[in-house]
Formats: sequence, C-alpha cells, structure tokens
Amino acid sequence: MPKNFIVHTKDEIEGIRKAGEAAAYARKQIAMFIRPGITTKQIDEYAEVIIASTGGTSAFHLYRDFPGQICISVNEEVIHGIGGAREIVAGDIVSIDVGVNLNGFIGDNAETVKTGPVNDKIEGLLLQTENALYAGIKRAVRGNYVRDISIAIENVAKRNKIGVVRGYVGHGCGCELHEPPEVPNFKSAKGPMLRPGMVLAIEPMFNRGTYKTVTEADGWTVRTKDFKMSAHFEHTVLITDGEPEILTI
Ligand code: MG
Repeated sequence: MPKNFIVHTKDEIEGIRKAGEAAAYARKQIAMFIRPGITTKQIDEYAEVIIASTGGTSAFHLYRDFPGQICISVNEEVIHGIGGAREIVAGDIVSIDVGVNLNGFIGDNAETVKTGPVNDKIEGLLLQTENALYAGIKRAVRGNYVRDISIAIENVAKRNKIGVVRGYVGHGCGCELHEPPEVPNFKSAKGPMLRPGMVLAIEPMFNRGTYKTVTEADGWTVRTKDFKMSAHFEHTVLITDGEPEILTI
C-alpha cells in the first residue's frame, strides 16, 4: 500500500517555509487590493504581478489546465472561481485562494474578504470559518490523527448551524500542491497519525445554508446549491515536535 502521508526533510521544510511566506505575502496584498468596482479579472491580473514580485509563480495556473492565477470565488461561489467580467459590488464577500511555487516548493492559503458592511449572518459565517481553521490547527500536533483536526473543524460548524462542504477537503502540501493525506472538514476515517515534518493545508469551507455544491458550466467554479454565501480560510501548517507552525501567517 502506498504511504498515505509524507514526512518532509529539513531542506524541504526550509523551502516550503519560504514558499509559505511568499504565499502569505501575496494573499495579504491581494486582499488589500479587492474593492467594489473592479472585476475579478483585474484581481487575477494583480495577483500575477504580486506573485511574480515574490520570485515565485502561481501554483494553480495551468494545474489541471486551471486558467487563472489564483482562485477568486464571490458570495455563493465556494472555491475554484476564475477571474472574469464579474464586478465586485460593495457587500460582496470574496474568497481568494493563493498558491505560490517558489523554487519548486509550495505554499497554499486562502481567506474570505469583505468589501463593505455585511449582515450578522455573513459576519458570523466568516468569523466561524476562520475560528474553525484555528481550532483545526490547534489539533495539528504530533501523535494526533488527521481526524482530530477534522472533528475540531466540524464542531465549530455544528455549534453555529453552518453547512460544511463535503466534496472538497484539505490536503498535504509542500513539494506538490496536493499530497497525501486528505484533510476533511468533517468526521471521517482516522487517517494517518501526525508526525513532525508533515505539512498540511487545512482549509474549512463553510456554507450559510446547505453543504451541497454544484459546479458551474465553466467546469471549475464551485457554488452552493442554494446560492447562499460561502466562506473559505486556509493555512499551510507544519507538524513539529511542539506547537504547530503556521507557514502562511
Ligand atoms: Mg489548498
């Protein structure tokens, strides 16, 4: 049976750490750029410039032929949105997922950005999705299992009556964009035990309504089935001998 996890070497971890820094820098810059009146295509073009300024390249562009530089998912869109003609309107929430390849190593992170005041339900959705990310990270310690992360994330959703996307999950990361193991955001198989040197992209995707999603005709954009809002927060996290190290902070 092939190994269902990867322990990275010291040298690899050094490279992944630098890629994580680049990915975090790019995410923050792009988040600040997002405002009403611009199109998602303009966000994607800006992302290309910012990612290039780190010395890296987009880890998503042309991955399985994905056409964008980053994923830009607005409101009811969950993940994998492609920059295009859609114009940002005040009050939209915009999820950006930013992966950077720096010298062959990958950092992957995401956040959902507000573009103006939103109602309490949406405010709560964003807050609890980010809370769930950190609740999951807290459990990302040696000797735990992947499922411990999943349960911690799902519990935040349950307490807040939020839908947890089931069709898409977190993943190992580092030398490839997607490495084993999968990191679901809901209780599932135990998965491998966490060991120092493992790197996980932990990424809760929470919906205001149903957990169910559909894929748009472009073949990429995933949206909620009921058109209710969706949020997404992600960090690339290193398992250590002690506390988890967030590489994309
Ligand atoms: Mg990811």
